[in-house]
Amino acid sequence: MKIPYVNLSRQNYKYRKNLISIFSKILDSGEYVGGKEVINFEKKISQFCKSKYAVALNSGTDALTLAMHVCGVRRGDEVITTPNSFIASTAAIVHLGAKPVFVDVLDDQNIDPNKIEKVITKKTRCIMPVHLTGRMSDMKSIMKIAKKYKIKVVEDSAQSIGSKLYKKNAGTFGDIGCFSAHPLKNLNAMGDGGYLITNNKTYYKKIKDLSNHGMTNRNRVKNFGYVSRMDNLQAAILNFKLSHLKRIILKRRKNFEIYKKNLSRNIFFPFEKSSEFNTYHTFVIQVKNREKLKKYLFKNKVSTSIHYPIPIHLQPAAKKLGYKKGDFPATENQSKKIITLPIHQDLKKNDIIRICKLVNKFVGN
Ligand SMILES: *Cc1c(COP(=O)(O)O)cnc(C)c1O
Repeated sequence: MKIPYVNLSRQNYKYRKNLISIFSKILDSGEYVGGKEVINFEKKISQFCKSKYAVALNSGTDALTLAMHVCGVRRGDEVITTPNSFIASTAAIVHLGAKPVFVDVLDDQNIDPNKIEKVITKKTRCIMPVHLTGRMSDMKSIMKIAKKYKIKVVEDSAQSIGSKLYKKNAGTFGDIGCFSAHPLKNLNAMGDGGYLITNNKTYYKKIKDLSNHGMTNRNRVKNFGYVSRMDNLQAAILNFKLSHLKRIILKRRKNFEIYKKNLSRNIFFPFEKSSEFNTYHTFVIQVKNREKLKKYLFKNKVSTSIHYPIPIHLQPAAKKLGYKKGDFPATENQSKKIITLPIHQDLKKNDIIRICKLVNKFVGN
């Protein structure tokens, strides 16, 4: 593949020396689960996001689970979210015994705030907007609704570390912001990892305990908990990578500008509004013959991806939720048209121009 969608070994190769010295430092420290690096990461990431507290965890999925748990989401409750996310946001709701209530999306793939009030019931405990592709949902409107109905808000910011809306960071609008450090995310570990941020001290303390078997200390367990801790090794890697994050985001933003300048006007992709600061975890365009374009690019040695080809409400796993084809027209329509082009930080300007030329040629421009 001339232009891979992503190449993680190449991405990490640049840091080979640093990473090997991190591995040996942790090896010798004997601190493997929890430890100084974890404490340090929590401090650094809360500073980066401008939030009071952070908890380092094993995954973005468990961050969502623990966040909703402390927000009081229990069996029989309802959580409002979108059907065009990665499966994990809905799965976390289901595993708490709650019911995901889907709301369709806008052109920019994020939740349509105008459709939220209609689905609020007495059982609605929480709204979970998903900041897809590194672009934030309309949090001003969502928080207005949440305050009016006294509903908690858990932001699925898994794809949006460093993204901003009105200069305010992703994850700091709602009660809790949840992030993933999966290798494919912009701030990535070398294995699973996740974290969450909050300004609420009670939530912070509860989540800290819950993530570690519910233990308040070595011998006392207040609530039955989870095993959701971040490994010290992953924390050490993230501490190192965090020092490169601003540059990575800047590079991805530059890559978007190259796309914007060179892609034909006939191709739809949402522009960045002046209120937004997008981090381009992915760059998604919408075209008519998506499958054909994917094959055409592949033949020309450009690999692409699709996020996501099957909306969650149409997944076999979601059958029991009772939704059907046609329930969310915008999501379903997008799922047939979306294709994710490479935008990672190791791309050269000419790579992007080459992709643009191929896509433009395909659509006939
Ligand atoms: C990656 C992702 C998650 C899950 O994160 P993990 O760390 O893989 O558990 C949740 N929601 C969205 C939108 C994601 O992109």
